Amino acid sequence: MRVFSRTHANSMDIRYMEVWWEPNQEHQVWGGNPEDKLLRLERSESGGAPWSTLFEGVLDRWHHRDYSSTGNHAFRSWWYRVGVTEPGTGDVHYSEPFKQSAQPSLEALEISARFGTVLRTFGREVFLYRKKTYGARCSKCWDPISMTTRTRQCPVCYGTGFMGGYHAPFRIYMKIDPYADQIQSTATGPLVVAKTTAMCLPFPDPLPGSLIVEGENVRWIVESRTSTQLQRADIRVQLQLHKMPTSDICYQVPVRVALEDFNPTPPSALAVNSSTQLEDRLDLADWDPSDIYNYRG
Ligand SMILES: [Zn+2]
Repeated sequence: MRVFSRTHANSMDIRYMEVWWEPNQEHQVWGGNPEDKLLRLERSESGGAPWSTLFEGVLDRWHHRDYSSTGNHAFRSWWYRVGVTEPGTGDVHYSEPFKQSAQPSLEALEISARFGTVLRTFGREVFLYRKKTYGARCSKCWDPISMTTRTRQCPVCYGTGFMGGYHAPFRIYMKIDPYADQIQSTATGPLVVAKTTAMCLPFPDPLPGSLIVEGENVRWIVESRTSTQLQRADIRVQLQLHKMPTSDICYQVPVRVALEDFNPTPPSALAVNSSTQLEDRLDLADWDPSDIYNYRG
């Protein structure tokens, strides 16, 4: 059950962001003395870790004006989440992350959910690293005079100019299309390059510059992103990907996963061996998958 019945971020003034939230009064966490519970509002650039706390206090406010959300960057978005702490257990119950975006209709949510089912069968798990656009500058290569990095091959910021380079990774399902490796002649020798396209859900949003790592350690950088929308709400995202050469510094970005237990191919895809089974598994008998591409409202 959702802890908050409504969360919303919007502003008509670029100097700040207005954030609202409302409790779902039916949730058990809201019982007892409201002053015993702590409410906190947190913000993140990627929609995942790390989260920074904007305020923490008792349950007497349902709105916050975030003056620290400004910043001019084409590929920066701020995600918010609110949490409430239960006094007895200390458990923190969080809302889903949200940001300034069109509120999806029920139809948009349904289409997105069905596309997620398709992805979990035809896609594979990948690691998505959102590139940092703010924070502490790199201690090794950042030049404060020229305001640029001195080298792209930096093992501290991986060429981004910010310490660590990327936010904590997400494990998401993505369908990456087949690609052709091409050999390019360069001054330092032949270079294998490839480009392809991919599809995924709009959260967490893989903005250009994001790093994608496949289960076999093939690494891609997102070059461009387009989305399929319904009434301006994103329901699906299409990406242009550039395959990085193994000599690139992005191959130094650590992937911490127990490989012996890691299988990026979903078990449902392995189990499917006939179209009948597939229809049973996805409950597609009365639903044409092409509907999500031809939706007319
Ligand atoms: Zn650096």
